[in-house]
Amino acid sequence: MTRDPRYDILFEPIKIGPVTAPNRFYQVPHCNGMGRVFPDSMIAMRGMKAAGGWGIVCTEQCDFHHTADITPYTETRMWDDADIGYLAGMCNAVHEHGSLAGVELVHNGHTVGNLYSREIPIGPSHRPVEANHYPGQARAMDKQDIRDYRRWHRDAALRSKKAGFDLVIVYHGHDGTVPSHFLSKRQNQRTDEYGESLENRLRLYRELLEETKDAVGDTMGVIARFAVDEMMGSDGLEWENEGREALEMIAELPDMWDVNVSDWSNDSMTSRFAPEGYQEDYVRFVKQVTSKPVSTVGRYTSPDAMVTAIKQGVVDLIGAARPSIADPFLPRKIEEGRPEDIRECIGCNICVAWDMLSAPIRCTQNPTMSEEWRKGWHPEQIAQKTSESHILVVGSGPAGLEAAHQLGKRGYQVTLAEARGEPGGRVSRESRLPGLAAWARVRDYRLGQMREMVNVETYLDSELTAEQVLEFGADHVCLATGATWQHDGVGRANRYPVPGMDRNTILTPDDIMDGKRPAKGPVIVFDDDHYYLGGVMAELLVSEGHDVTIITPETMVAAWTRYTLEQGHIEKRLKQAGITILTRRNMLRISGSEAVVLNTLTDQEETLQGAVVSVTMRLPNDGLYNDLMALGEGPLKAGIKSIKRIGDCLGPAMIASATYEGHRYARELDTNVDIDVVPFKREHHKLELA
Ligand code: ADP
Ligand code: SF4
Repeated sequence: MTRDPRYDILFEPIKIGPVTAPNRFYQVPHCNGMGRVFPDSMIAMRGMKAAGGWGIVCTEQCDFHHTADITPYTETRMWDDADIGYLAGMCNAVHEHGSLAGVELVHNGHTVGNLYSREIPIGPSHRPVEANHYPGQARAMDKQDIRDYRRWHRDAALRSKKAGFDLVIVYHGHDGTVPSHFLSKRQNQRTDEYGESLENRLRLYRELLEETKDAVGDTMGVIARFAVDEMMGSDGLEWENEGREALEMIAELPDMWDVNVSDWSNDSMTSRFAPEGYQEDYVRFVKQVTSKPVSTVGRYTSPDAMVTAIKQGVVDLIGAARPSIADPFLPRKIEEGRPEDIRECIGCNICVAWDMLSAPIRCTQNPTMSEEWRKGWHPEQIAQKTSESHILVVGSGPAGLEAAHQLGKRGYQVTLAEARGEPGGRVSRESRLPGLAAWARVRDYRLGQMREMVNVETYLDSELTAEQVLEFGADHVCLATGATWQHDGVGRANRYPVPGMDRNTILTPDDIMDGKRPAKGPVIVFDDDHYYLGGVMAELLVSEGHDVTIITPETMVAAWTRYTLEQGHIEKRLKQAGITILTRRNMLRISGSEAVVLNTLTDQEETLQGAVVSVTMRLPNDGLYNDLMALGEGPLKAGIKSIKRIGDCLGPAMIASATYEGHRYARELDTNVDIDVVPFKREHHKLELA
């Protein structure tokens, strides 16, 4: 197939200074928890993006000097020539497919504590270090420090050239780099020529751009990555005021503008808080003030939205991090005339969370992300079947759907049985809750792919018993029967059942999703899960007219969502909806319409009135598995060679874990898996002392 001519504009080459990008797909720098620590994995992942058609593929942030050491985070690093090797490896992997390789040079200044290098952090003014409440301060840079800093940046640009990069990104964004700290009135209290007026505060960034152009601009394109609005009103940059004025002052200096909003939690907003293309209103002015190519991000997954953004003169290139993670082959699919095959990002930020946790990136939609090298998994290719086996997959949540889809792709005969009248399991159910509509993409992508597969049959309204599984006559049985939220209050804070909490006295998220509701009046949501569902329950119930209080044993509401960059947004939304948030409160007991909670700060008991919705933990739905096991030799006699549990039925977790488990099941079928052997390649460092 060939592409729809409507999308031709996305495939027009574009000149960026002395280099030319083959198309308009720009994989912006994005962190991935691999970087310098898992370099082979990082290189293979970037190479896969280029293979998938991204015309520009960039590194994540690359620290360029030991006075800004982002340990414990695992980004790329270029402190001296010893770091060139693996970065050159990435360039080669990208060039192999005709794409341009870009490096984002970053010095985090007072954002980081230099835990490894032990250098005193630096910045425009004396300031406490921001990361992880590190109890140390950055010192104000004097004139010599500024001269040194400029030299380090220039040296890094020259090293980037040596490594083979085509593009160098001079980074001013996310309130996390020295030039952004200099520009910020909040961070810069200097009274010299680098402080006070906008022109002065912008001076360092201007110098960096000029010096980078001078050092490498003859052969490399120089991109200004610049946040035009900090979304904090007049305390920060606003695009209508200083954001615009600053950009106008240096509009023609770089070869390209990559503009966005700051900080990271605003730039990478989840689908719960921002729709596709949400940065357009902030950056629309940029093309009016510069003749250089412009790009922005905004979780673009629809080629029509991309074309519109270009045709309306908002941008020239489509920047993307998450859409390129969820589908490294997004550009190829548009080019080959099959945009319906795009695996659309759901905007959940699990990818971000894994970077924040300093572990190789995970993606809810793309289970092969970060497995390209260590497991040899390709996002679009999977080995053909090696037997004529028929596989029965029970349960069509994300785990069952992914298993059935990939088994079908391998060519196996697959039957997918689902108890409910609709496929999708938890993603269908949760997608009807406030803000979670995009969860349905997990289901829709897989159903779409399976639609054409004659070897995959799906049966709804088919709750299977052990006897029916035996009668079915499959060679392999894959149980993806999910998990159920518990009523008894057991979870992280309570290791024993909470007196008074049971099926008759409280509701769980499953009950709510089944349509049950508390009686009219106040509701207490007890959130000991700390991810998104507690807050979502509160939002739903307040929208239905209840007076809602959310209590959590943690020190902040939805505490784990700080890793998905959502915690601040969630807290704000709950407060705006009029929901009362009580932290450091654990559920002690329920009697009648009273909930007695312990305030763990005061050690006092408090009494709250209302019906309780409890979000604590889930138990696997493994009844069918246990029934099959109880049949002893029965399954074997029925010709069943294996029975396996996957997804929440084995270990309740995030949706990303379920799609991964489903994928893994399909890959491993008919292979010899030795559970005593590490199931992936590991990175080994060259040792000097051993
Ligand atoms: P996961 O996240 O692991 O994919 P889900 O809870 O999303 O799990 O999906 C599990 C699905 O399995 C649900 O749609 C549920 O209706 C279905 N299911 C559970 N038990 C059976 C059964 N015995 N037969 C058929 N389907 C089942
Ligand atoms: Fe998108 Fe979620 Fe995948 Fe990140 S983890 S790329 S947000 S689907």
